[in-house]
Amino acid sequence: MTRTALYPGSFDPVTYGHLDIIARAAQLFDRLVLAVGAHHEKKALLAMDVRLKVLEEAVRPLTERTSCEITLAKFSCLTVEAARRAGACAIVRGLRDGSDFDYEVRMAQMNAALAHDVETIFLAASPSSRMIASSLVKQIARMGGDISQFVPMEAAEAIRAAQAET
Ligand code: ADP
Repeated sequence: MTRTALYPGSFDPVTYGHLDIIARAAQLFDRLVLAVGAHHEKKALLAMDVRLKVLEEAVRPLTERTSCEITLAKFSCLTVEAARRAGACAIVRGLRDGSDFDYEVRMAQMNAALAHDVETIFLAASPSSRMIASSLVKQIARMGGDISQFVPMEAAEAIRAAQAET
């Protein structure tokens, strides 16, 4: 049986923290769908198509070496609906700290109430990338800081281009 997981997020932009979760989830599932969506409380810096393109480029090295089939999708529906459409039995989320935990567990419980057949799987952030947050990376970039240790090159370039326009 093919096991598919959905990893949903804003990916505005993808960071090395996201890539760590993606690589680890790829070891657990046969198929992994990276679902790029909009967060109801966050205004994205990068356009949807840019986020998808940057994510696609950033995961390419992994897709070339893993047996997991990694695909990308955009979604604007409920996460559980996106999971169902992808044929996913699980939603993957990353946990960095207590505030992630509080928010994520509440979300997981709401999603479980909406869809009993979709399980949320939490992966604890790796120590080396645990502090990385897309929002902080964008803030550092805006102040002229070096973000190369937090995001892949294509993401850093996309941030720079988007911030130059605003
Ligand atoms: P969302 O807007 O849905 O929270 P994000 O792109 O910010 O989307 O995050 C998607 C998922 O990735 C969330 O579960 C988040 O906790 C997780 N995540 C974000 N940054 C990291 C990181 N540095 N390490 C591990 N998980 C992370």
